[in-house]
Amino acid sequence: MANGFGSDEPTATTPAEALLARRAAALDAAFGKADLPARLAGIVGEANGRVVFTTSFGLEDQVLTHFIATAKLPVTFATLDTGRLFPEVYALWQETEERYGILIRPYYPRHDSLELHVRQNGINGFYASRDARKSCCDIRKVEPLGRALAGAAIWLTGLRADQSAARGGVELAEADVARGLVKASPLIDWTRERALAFAEANGVPINPLHAHGFVSIGCQPCTRAIRPGEPERAGRWWWEDDAAKECGLHVGPDGQLSRVKSAPAETHA
Ligand code: SF4
Repeated sequence: MANGFGSDEPTATTPAEALLARRAAALDAAFGKADLPARLAGIVGEANGRVVFTTSFGLEDQVLTHFIATAKLPVTFATLDTGRLFPEVYALWQETEERYGILIRPYYPRHDSLELHVRQNGINGFYASRDARKSCCDIRKVEPLGRALAGAAIWLTGLRADQSAARGGVELAEADVARGLVKASPLIDWTRERALAFAEANGVPINPLHAHGFVSIGCQPCTRAIRPGEPERAGRWWWEDDAAKECGLHVGPDGQLSRVKSAPAETHA
């Protein structure tokens, strides 16, 4: 019980946290049943500040990019270049910018932190222990993500609820207290099949690795194809327990998926 009061979810404890929770609940109430274009337009329209969409060029992210760019919504596109991505990801990055006429802001690891990490752990030290893997993810992903989201009011993600057991409780909008923003996942109730069908029907560029069993695509050394029937996240950090299979982008300091129990919606603001 994370908060010691009978719930596994932290509750808002400060006025700022309560405000975030109310904003998230309001978005949930207003747009939870809307279709994707209305959801996106509504979430962006209600934002009280900058909206940042972080893409890793996966199937779901490409579908969201299509909708955001086609509707010309005022959203900042950002990506985390860990330095260990598949060549196909860089090709898709360029193709996506050209196809939609957008620029995607890159965020890179701090060179001094990365140099120290590699000196201490080796270039592929993340296989040796969970701590080394988490350290690598922190340096290559989590810290750059913090800079990508600095000052943002809304963080758009391509999460779906059925990607893994850990993500099953994710809602359309959640208060991310640690980052001081509302995290919104407009594809939360989509299935992978629906996203794939949409991409194919609309010529959305997607990673060719998806056709070869790569479902969730992250860094090259930490991603593998899955067999039919295996869960999606089985292709990531396969040498670790399922419970540990998050890179830290969507988890809080306690190691749990970061979320605050939504307060009752007061307004749609
Ligand atoms: S996914 Fe692998 S290579 Fe990428 S940051 Fe995490 S541990 Fe490092």
